[in-house]
Amino acid sequence: MYDVLVIGAGPAGMTAAIYAARAGYKTAMAEVGVPGGQAATTEIIENYPGFPQGVAGPDLMYKFFEQTQTFGVEMLYGYVESLDCSDEVKKVKIGDSIYESKAVVIASGAKPKTLGVANEDRMRGRGVSYCATCDGFFFKDKDVLVVGGGDTAVEEAMYLTKMCRKVTLIHRRDQLRANRTAQNRAFANEKLEIVYNTTLEEIIGEDKVTAVRLKNKVTGEETVMDINGIFIFAGYLPNNDFFPAELEVDKNGYVLTDEKMQTNIPGVFAVGDVRKKALRQVTTAVGDGGAVISAIEEYFA
Ligand code: NAP
Repeated sequence: MYDVLVIGAGPAGMTAAIYAARAGYKTAMAEVGVPGGQAATTEIIENYPGFPQGVAGPDLMYKFFEQTQTFGVEMLYGYVESLDCSDEVKKVKIGDSIYESKAVVIASGAKPKTLGVANEDRMRGRGVSYCATCDGFFFKDKDVLVVGGGDTAVEEAMYLTKMCRKVTLIHRRDQLRANRTAQNRAFANEKLEIVYNTTLEEIIGEDKVTAVRLKNKVTGEETVMDINGIFIFAGYLPNNDFFPAELEVDKNGYVLTDEKMQTNIPGVFAVGDVRKKALRQVTTAVGDGGAVISAIEEYFA
């Protein structure tokens, strides 16, 4: 029986776990992969205060993890299958084991959205990727396509220019969504070409990606472009497979909480990217993770 079981060891979950364990609660953290979540697959984080030169995502996340261990947070590695909140004591099923906890903090984050274009699924890992830091190396001196116009697409495209021969970023509208700093850097990068009003229609290749079929949304013209790799950054969807039916979520499946991170189920809290919120960054994840402790203490009181 734990006092606090945190589901997900990204920056939000690890911060919540540090606060809970430091407050003297018996705390566990469930994680299916390497601690750090999406931040651990980010090459460099420049907007986390305290690091004037920026900090490598994996390094920062490893420090978070070390801090959880300093305070004695127990790790439960495995996939969370379900969260049963029918009783005051919550039951979290991880693999074949069931763990009990008085309070649960959902910090399961989000996963990359797929586009649903022809052959996207079949070509995943064969030239289609959702993580430049993970897979960029495979495309050294090759030509790649990036899809999306947000912060992730632009920043990851910039990262890919370091190793790829040429990076073409296509965006479905006539202007980028990414922040101004990222845009200005992208415009100044000679290895990066930005093509607007363009969508990916089909991924072509047998065993690996060889080309793509693109469509200009204004003229309707379709072109086939030879390419070795495709990186898709079309936003994210919450990791919510295990949610109990009674947990309130928005229309996209993000958990609804109040500003103390309390969900509609007493003793169940949510922090970080899995929560409906305006800005999803490491700083806001950390803010959520720190804020939840007061609601947990009120709940136990
Ligand atoms: P995002 O802001 O939701 O952007 C997703 C992009 O993909 C948008 O440009 C969108 O086009 C496009 N898109 C979505 N569905 C598409 C489809 N079916 N076909 C073609 N294009 C599609 O996602 P994100 O860039 O991953 O960022 C997520 C959050 O993390 C944001 O809050 C962002 O600010 C934050 N973030 C911040 C930083 C930073 O501060 N350095 C870095 C990374 C991420 P439209 O523009 O037309 O909607």
